[in-house]
Amino acid sequence: MKIGQSIRSHGIAVACGVLATAGLIGCDNPGVTSTPDDIEISETSGTVKVAAEKADKKDASETDSDQADSKDNKDSKMSEKEKEDSVDQKVKFVFDYNSLNAKAAYVILRKGTEPPGPGGYTMTKDAGTYICRQCNAALYKSEAKFESHCGWPSFDDEIDGAVKRQTDADGYRVEIICNNCGGHLGHVFEGENFTEKNTRHCVNSISMKFIPKGKPIPPKLVVDKQAAKEANQKRTATESEPVQQDKD
Ligand SMILES: [Zn+2]
Repeated sequence: MKIGQSIRSHGIAVACGVLATAGLIGCDNPGVTSTPDDIEISETSGTVKVAAEKADKKDASETDSDQADSKDNKDSKMSEKEKEDSVDQKVKFVFDYNSLNAKAAYVILRKGTEPPGPGGYTMTKDAGTYICRQCNAALYKSEAKFESHCGWPSFDDEIDGAVKRQTDADGYRVEIICNNCGGHLGHVFEGENFTEKNTRHCVNSISMKFIPKGKPIPPKLVVDKQAAKEANQKRTATESEPVQQDKD
């Protein structure tokens, strides 16, 4: 990877400036910096509650019946769109997300940009799922990936609910962040007519991790110290129950 070199040599600024001027791309502005505090805890905790409820429901249904009929019922209620978007991913409550190296932290936490080029996942065409490097949330399916020749991985659709859009710090572009952890992904552009969906998610490779089709997708990490504590206590209590019964 040449990120560090390019950062030091201001290669990003040159590349973005040239390509953006040519109207070819709209990449991140490397001049925009922010602190890890930009990871919005309040929004994340909102997600946590929903995720916790979903996880509880899923656990309950799995406990009540591990047969396929409940799954069939669920499937029959799902629309074609939902089926297309659904990704089998468990939720895990943790105290912290995956640790990031300096290059990943620069992009994901400080909203930096990788230099454009054929590296990373730009040219990847394998079938599979792209997950968030920081929290493992499934973000994009390979079916949505297309060749835009902009130098970054491009997708014309996200997995339902996985990506949040917000106005970029520059005031005009639309920044995309992981809806679970708030990590910076890149920007989204519309009206370029690359694909029928007319949308281009321009995503930094280092913000993602590719899971080839057939390989298990790791659980989505949800940072909730209270929930993690309660889950641990619950597990401890459950494990100690048989011992107490034996004593009686
Ligand atoms: Zn994430």
